[in-house]
Amino acid sequence: MHKDDKIFVAGHRGMVGGAIVRALRTQGYENLTLRTRAEVDLLDRNAVNDFFAAEKVDHVFLAAAKVGGIIANDTESGDFIRDNLYIQTNVIDAAYRHGVKKFMFLGSSCIYPKFAEQPIREESLLTGELEPTNSAYAIAKIAGKEMCDAYRKQFGFNAFTVMPSNVYGVGDNFDPQSSHVAAGLMRRFHEAKEAGLDEVVAWGTGSPLRELIYADDLADACVFLMNNYDAGGMINAGSDQEVSIRTLTELVAQTVGFDGKISWDASKPDGTPRKIMDNSRLRGLGWTPTTSLRDGLAAMYAWFLENVARSS
Ligand code: GDP
Repeated sequence: MHKDDKIFVAGHRGMVGGAIVRALRTQGYENLTLRTRAEVDLLDRNAVNDFFAAEKVDHVFLAAAKVGGIIANDTESGDFIRDNLYIQTNVIDAAYRHGVKKFMFLGSSCIYPKFAEQPIREESLLTGELEPTNSAYAIAKIAGKEMCDAYRKQFGFNAFTVMPSNVYGVGDNFDPQSSHVAAGLMRRFHEAKEAGLDEVVAWGTGSPLRELIYADDLADACVFLMNNYDAGGMINAGSDQEVSIRTLTELVAQTVGFDGKISWDASKPDGTPRKIMDNSRLRGLGWTPTTSLRDGLAAMYAWFLENVARSS
């Protein structure tokens, strides 16, 4: 990317899109095109086409998606598959038709088989059954990756897909039902501390293993790949920091300053038992993350206090 190239970040109000905007600005990219949903509804094919026809953007980061934690994915699977298929189909196709030079599609590590060999290599895609709690979302994301590959193959469109591990950070969704684990627990610990409660309930058994990457680290990887990766297909982007949900829960409690009891509601799903990615392809290109889980959680809590706790 040249510093004056026109860059569209789709989903800039979300956690990852917002972090991509910060990373771009920090690195001196100022010609950013950002649109709220009210301005350009990405579910609307005509609106997306009109937008690309008018704006003539050079680069696209597609970080707009309907996302959510384990329960939201399971209970709203129809919304997840429809919205994500619409958004990515509209944006990938219009970007290609209107001359975008390079395109990044943001995937998700849940596209990999539930029992993929760990750490999960890119080659594991479509080698086994998906985790049922998020298969609708996963199949939409697999379709987006496949569409990028097919447009590259048939039309020479320079598109690639980034598969992040579980993401957390500033700008996360803290909604009690639809949030991911770190944000959901952070809010519960905070509210329990404020209310003087001495017990917080976490979901599942605590035994699943996850790899968490800080949103600003992931964003940095996305910008790096836009500049340094032309092979197409998909590339994993994780932190190599593996943590059990139990340990993560304790870390979040410490971050918030909650020192009461943590109990586990085993009637809630655990999801995939272990989800850690092999990031050697990305490391081989020369990129490494810089934020420890402890530091990332501290920054996330500071943001929560400023932006969420204050207004609720
Ligand atoms: P997943 O990687 O798709 O399973 O994403 P999540 O972040 O939603 O969940 C990760 C793990 O954390 C699962 O094993 C959940 O059962 C567990 N977990 C524990 N407490 C919570 C919570 O309050 N919210 C969420 N979303 N997950 C929780």
